[in-house]
Amino acid sequence: MASADVIVIGGGVNGTSTAFHLASLGVRNVTLVERRHLAAGASGKSGSLVRMHYTNEAESRLAFESLKVFHNFEAVVGGDCGFERAGFLQIVPRGYEQALARNVAVQQGIGIKTRVVSSDEVRSLLPECRVEDIGAAAYEPDSGFADPNATTFAFAEASRRLGVTIRTRCEAARIVIENGRVAAVETTQGRIDTPTVVLVPGAWGQRLLDPFGLDFGLTPHRVQISIFRWPAGFTRRHCVVIDAVHESWFRPESAASTLIGVELGVQHSDPEGFDEGVDPSYIALCREALAARLPAFSEAPMRGGWAGIIMMSPDGRPIIDRIPSIPGLYVMLGDSGTSFKTAPAIGRCLAEWIVHGTPRTVDLTPFRSTRFAEGKPWHDADNYGRERLTISR
Ligand SMILES: Cc1cc2nc3c(=O)[nH]c(=O)nc-3n(C[C@H](O)[C@H](O)[C@H](O)COP(=O)(O)OP(=O)(O)OC[C@H]3O[C@@H](n4cnc5c(N)ncnc54)[C@H](O)[C@@H]3O)c2cc1C
Repeated sequence: MASADVIVIGGGVNGTSTAFHLASLGVRNVTLVERRHLAAGASGKSGSLVRMHYTNEAESRLAFESLKVFHNFEAVVGGDCGFERAGFLQIVPRGYEQALARNVAVQQGIGIKTRVVSSDEVRSLLPECRVEDIGAAAYEPDSGFADPNATTFAFAEASRRLGVTIRTRCEAARIVIENGRVAAVETTQGRIDTPTVVLVPGAWGQRLLDPFGLDFGLTPHRVQISIFRWPAGFTRRHCVVIDAVHESWFRPESAASTLIGVELGVQHSDPEGFDEGVDPSYIALCREALAARLPAFSEAPMRGGWAGIIMMSPDGRPIIDRIPSIPGLYVMLGDSGTSFKTAPAIGRCLAEWIVHGTPRTVDLTPFRSTRFAEGKPWHDADNYGRERLTISR
């Protein structure tokens, strides 16, 4: 009979980060099970922006702790996560100048290098951009983006080096409860006994929660991106941008292209059968949003795109918790399209919780699973106009 001290369910960036941190903290017998292959879920499709700017302190703290890992990835984890310190610009519409200033002040208080910048500075940070419609902007010189597949693979490889067993093509079919607590996981490769499970299943989580009557209102959503070759004459590598005026976000991709996502709102989708390609209508929306900020891109050749699937929570923030009613069950659910950049800290916090009895790196109370039942879903007072956004919020 196989056994493990901890079983991690899910081989995305958060699952592999958790396995790595568990092993780093000295847990000897960790098994990670993945139903398909590493980065088969949202992680493999991520836009992978690594920015600290959020409209709440808790997510900024997770992002800031994670940035330290992205900056020193080779030394801390090993391997290359493809992080590029391109700089990050957050643009907000008119009417949100004070909200942005308050958010920047909170982030500076955490220690994040960020500042409010003028329209003239925006123009010099993002040459050739339009600024007439900008209310305010903030700039983070240390942020950027990473390679989400390389990051996941590197966490997995580092885990293996530390003794973690990784089983791909191994689906967790059921979490077994005996004597009121976690006792095992039944997988397609047999039963594995364990007192502790970390469930990090991305968009595929609900079926494992159903037997326990756990319903947090999670819904899977298809999220797309599109890539444009830089147009003739556009040759300068640009920074990463979230443009809340046009509800879009973009970053450089490979040597001379830009990867962009635009907000479509909620697009419920079936994680077992969604279209992995990009819709023609979406490409048109992306070109429009990109050209609205960088007019040269109205003549940019389209070079492809894809769709991935994320799990939205009802308030658009992840649930990271030890489930109170099921001793031994820890979860990272409802990634809400924003949990690549925070994965190093999320994995570390979950590992600390299991090993030390409490998360030490960041206080996870705001991410508790019980906030919905308490009637206290997350709300950011200083948001930029829309709360139910995916990545570009
Ligand atoms: C197009 C797109 C753009 C994005 N852009 C950004 C961005 O710019 N910045 C950012 O921070 N975030 C971004 N995100 C979100 C980010 O990618 C996700 O939040 C993050 O990758 C989630 O990682 P995860 O490990 O929690 O889940 P996933 O990567 O979805 O991994 C879950 C894994 O669990 C496996 N699994 C599920 N059920 C089982 C089971 N029963 N047994 C075994 N294995 C199971 C799945 O196969 C999957 O591999 C984006 C996402 C998409 C799709």
